[in-house]
Amino acid sequence: MTFNDIRVRIAPSPSGNLHVGTARTALFNYLFAKHNNGKFVLRIEDTDLERSDEKYVQNIFDSLKAMGLDWDEGPDVGGDYGSYKQSERLELYKNYAEKLLESGHAYYCYCTPEELEAEKALAQEEKKTYLYSKKCKKLSPEQVENFRNEGRVPTIKFEMPVKHLIFKDLIKGNVEFDTALMSDFVIVKSNGIPTYNFAVVVDDIEMKMSHIIRGEDHISNTPRQIVIYEALGAEIPQFAHLGMILAPDRTKLSKRHGATAVSEFINEGYLPEAFVNFLALLGWTSPERKDVEASTSEIMSKDELIKYFSLDRVSSSNAIFEFDKLNWMNGFYIRHLPTPELFERLKPYLQDYDLSIYSEEQIETMINAVKEPLVKLSEATDAVSYFFGNSINISGEIKEAALSAEETGDILSEFAKFSENIDYENIEKIHEQLGEFRTQMKPLKPKQVMWAIRAALTGRTHGADMGVVISLLGKKKVLLRINEAINL
Ligand code: GLU
Repeated sequence: MTFNDIRVRIAPSPSGNLHVGTARTALFNYLFAKHNNGKFVLRIEDTDLERSDEKYVQNIFDSLKAMGLDWDEGPDVGGDYGSYKQSERLELYKNYAEKLLESGHAYYCYCTPEELEAEKALAQEEKKTYLYSKKCKKLSPEQVENFRNEGRVPTIKFEMPVKHLIFKDLIKGNVEFDTALMSDFVIVKSNGIPTYNFAVVVDDIEMKMSHIIRGEDHISNTPRQIVIYEALGAEIPQFAHLGMILAPDRTKLSKRHGATAVSEFINEGYLPEAFVNFLALLGWTSPERKDVEASTSEIMSKDELIKYFSLDRVSSSNAIFEFDKLNWMNGFYIRHLPTPELFERLKPYLQDYDLSIYSEEQIETMINAVKEPLVKLSEATDAVSYFFGNSINISGEIKEAALSAEETGDILSEFAKFSENIDYENIEKIHEQLGEFRTQMKPLKPKQVMWAIRAALTGRTHGADMGVVISLLGKKKVLLRINEAINL
């Protein structure tokens, strides 16, 4: 390795919202940079003008920021090697293409798409690997003149040198290609726009990238990129190709498995720090940490991930996106957030409720009473719903399960009387008083008694601690709801 500084990049194409696969690649680049005191660069590869959209650029910014993956250089923050948007670097690609034309590594190709298709069809017929005939490499000045007069606008093609190409991938080990099986390829389209394989090399050279860490779907592009580095006499960065992320059914992760964009996960109520922790473990295993409990050893903060991350612990095989594990982790992070912080994060999901009817302390009591089973923040909307409004809906199912026994009427009318003397301000005291009530209702089973009260007050058969429910609802609502249940 002769690069003095570690410089890596994430180079998304803004043709969709930031995908989890790209987010994982970004994270690994970020962790690698930070672990090695290097720089993490964001470059927007927007040369596909038809598919690129400014709204996706914004989504990429927002998603990376939400994940806490701040970039040292990028379109918005600048840096020494800008612009960091390919569409603003077209002049540069043109200059590099000129160099390759001059040095004889590239040539103009005037073939029409129809002519190229005909060549391909012939190769297919003869059951041969298609290789471009190179007929435009040997055009006479007159032929060129004729094509120009016909109005043909050429592409620029790179001539694939024939060799046995080997590169050492930091994750996959030695990777070999026989370039005799690879056709000459377009580096600049007839509209003057560079292709991915060309622009990426120019930018990685210009931006002084030391390592290219990316998904293995790009491994077949790597030989094409290496020969361009060689033709330009540029230093070749180290490559590290990550296995793909598959869904639990071992197929490509797609919409039908659930969310695939980072912003969707965050909107659904996954905590960015839980999501980052989960993504880090998709293909990377942390070294054994003796100072932490085995059951939660996978829970790691961003600082810990930076501390322990290394490419030699990245697996070369595909990783499975286990939604169950993500859910477990998210629940774990939710339960361990300090309550005021959790309240802040829950606010977007509680917008429909008039929170001002409670004090901050009461809200925190409520959150603590419902947070245990939460998997996603968005579930809090439903989990706290019975703390708001006067009456509640009691479904036929709940009525059948908890309020249909013959004794229910008795339990509820006795409780209506009992509730006059409840000490609503004191949750501990309410627990004691509920104990007294259960004794008073004997020989009825305590469980039946409590189910009826819970169903009447919350419309559910399980949920927050009853002391919290009764205390927060207060006497007026308790009485109202009990009476309504009696009259069901
Ligand atoms: N724009 C490419 C992509 O989004 C970048 C690939 C690379 O890292 O070279 O897949």
